[in-house]
Amino acid sequence: MYLSDYHFHTICSSDSTATLLEQAEAALAAGVQELCVTDHWNLLDQQGNRLPTVYDWSAPLEQYRAVRSRLPEELEVRLGIEVGNGVLDPAAVDASLELPELDFAIGSLHSQSAAAGGRGIFTAARACVRREDGVAIIDDYMDMLEELVRTDGFDVLGHVIYPLRYIPPEYGLDLHPWWDRLAEVLRTVIRQGRGIEMNTSAGTTVEQWRDVLALYRDLGGEVLTLGSDAHQSRSIAAAFPQALELIRCVGLRYLCVYRRRTPLFCKL
Ligand SMILES: [Zn+2]
Ligand SMILES: [Zn+2]
Repeated sequence: MYLSDYHFHTICSSDSTATLLEQAEAALAAGVQELCVTDHWNLLDQQGNRLPTVYDWSAPLEQYRAVRSRLPEELEVRLGIEVGNGVLDPAAVDASLELPELDFAIGSLHSQSAAAGGRGIFTAARACVRREDGVAIIDDYMDMLEELVRTDGFDVLGHVIYPLRYIPPEYGLDLHPWWDRLAEVLRTVIRQGRGIEMNTSAGTTVEQWRDVLALYRDLGGEVLTLGSDAHQSRSIAAAFPQALELIRCVGLRYLCVYRRRTPLFCKL
């Protein structure tokens, strides 16, 4: 099979210090055949302040071009982006994604809605003091997910289980109470020819994906990318053997890679 890691960060993301070359060397060592670098472009910070609505491609492009020319042929590197909270300004997102070299865009929600205060979901989840606070975070997240799928600026939905990473596990929350709404979101992306990613979050969240991937398969979903969300080289392709086993086990048949925003289906 053709192994790809389609979600990781580099020094062009404010929360990573790894260079693209370091990430690529780690990928080669892990047997990955294709990488897509997806640095952050968030439209809100953790406190809910607005960030620039024009993405500055200069540093990511410079790094990408320099590394591509230095890599051995057995590793393909592609250029992507992870857009955080693109729902705030879909027209601005579309404008910044017009870059000809762009292969792939992840649409993620890292922050709460403006109505809920716009704080980072990470920050809001850490401030939870009761189960109802966690429920409110997921309610708001589902509202935004429904809004996000009506916009153009992404190819796959990023880490759809995102709030579960940070809501205190003792509340025992999962997405089942929101299953009908999630199914409708997934039906929409399937109809649009777009997809979702399975995100191992540096190897920490494999099992949480089982029911979501099974639902996606039941609805006819086929466009799936796999990403480690590595911010450090040691997490490139983290827990991929377990993730691939789960993907096969639920009956999904392909991992996708992208060329100029168009998926190519690689048989598992
Ligand atoms: Zn993310
Ligand atoms: Zn990420």
